[in-house]
Amino acid sequence: MKLPIDIETVSILSRLLNESRKIVILMHVNPDGDAMGACLAIYHSVLQLYSEKEVVMVSPNHYPAFLQWLESSTKILIFKDKRKIVKEKIAEADLIICVDFNSLARLEDVETPLRHSSVPKILIDHHIHPNREEFAVAISDTTASSTSEIVYRLLQAMNLPVPVPAAEALLTGIMTDTNNFRDNASTPETFEVLADLLRLGVDKDKVTAAIYENFSASRMKLLGYALENMVTLPEYNAAYMSLSLEELNRFNFQPGDTESFVNYPLNIAKIKLSAYMSEQQDGSIRCSFRSRGDFSVNDLARKHFNGGGHRNAAGGRLTCSLKEATAFFVAQLENYKDVLQ
Ligand code: 5GP
Ligand code: MN
Repeated sequence: MKLPIDIETVSILSRLLNESRKIVILMHVNPDGDAMGACLAIYHSVLQLYSEKEVVMVSPNHYPAFLQWLESSTKILIFKDKRKIVKEKIAEADLIICVDFNSLARLEDVETPLRHSSVPKILIDHHIHPNREEFAVAISDTTASSTSEIVYRLLQAMNLPVPVPAAEALLTGIMTDTNNFRDNASTPETFEVLADLLRLGVDKDKVTAAIYENFSASRMKLLGYALENMVTLPEYNAAYMSLSLEELNRFNFQPGDTESFVNYPLNIAKIKLSAYMSEQQDGSIRCSFRSRGDFSVNDLARKHFNGGGHRNAAGGRLTCSLKEATAFFVAQLENYKDVLQ
């Protein structure tokens, strides 16, 4: 099986894990299924082997409600709510593991406390352009479906156990980051990892039901509303959806409710680029992008939307009104008309 890392890296990592007593695992802001899956899998695996160690999981802000079923998710410390404790845990840690992001800037408010720590920081990630210099060890495999897939291979290479809750978390990560195995899941290696997870005892139907058959009625109605108001731009083979705070509140929005909305416009024939824009509590506009084929939404997000991600899935943020944001998005498309044809 393909390994993302060389033997030397595996032995450095094994030694660091072995020697450390207090480990902090960090996820990016707005953690998704992959960040949560990778984080929780490491947590369960390390504690199974080394019950005497302290393993602390940290997220800059709240994780989506639809991932609450994951075992031990309630142990994740939310920096937004527990700033003092998280700062203490980071200061006390002798090893820090960062999962599913490529630059410390993705930690937002947790970036500064983290930069104050001089202990080894390990990166495990699959995004392009990792900021390697920010980490003592950077394990980056941009061809992997998800960070969870890399974490599985890593645990295997280090001979660490993968108990069922860890396997469930990893399946969640791979399932959600690949849009239920539709996108970015085309290598035998990904399916070999999935086969192993099933052999480890994970119940795929339980995980599928927990993720995709667990919505509130108001979330389904919000999706219907967003689709009803979707704007298609056939001249650019693009489409977008947008939701204001008022609209989100009208449908009793819960974090995570709009998680896969951006994928829907890509189900339309010929559409190569999809965007979903939503007004946030702080007034900023969060932007999600998806594309088919060679069109790089990572480039689009980096150049115009203060963000980044992968070639076919990226995000960013604008500080303007929702109307201005959607108009700005449409205006950018003129520059990409040829590539989108
Ligand atoms: P989503 O649209 O699901 O929020 O994010 C899609 C992908 O883009 C994910 O891999 C996510 O990590 C990345 N991403 C989303 N927002 C940002 C951002 O503001 N900055 C960067 N660098 N990446 C982002
Ligand atoms: Mn990911």
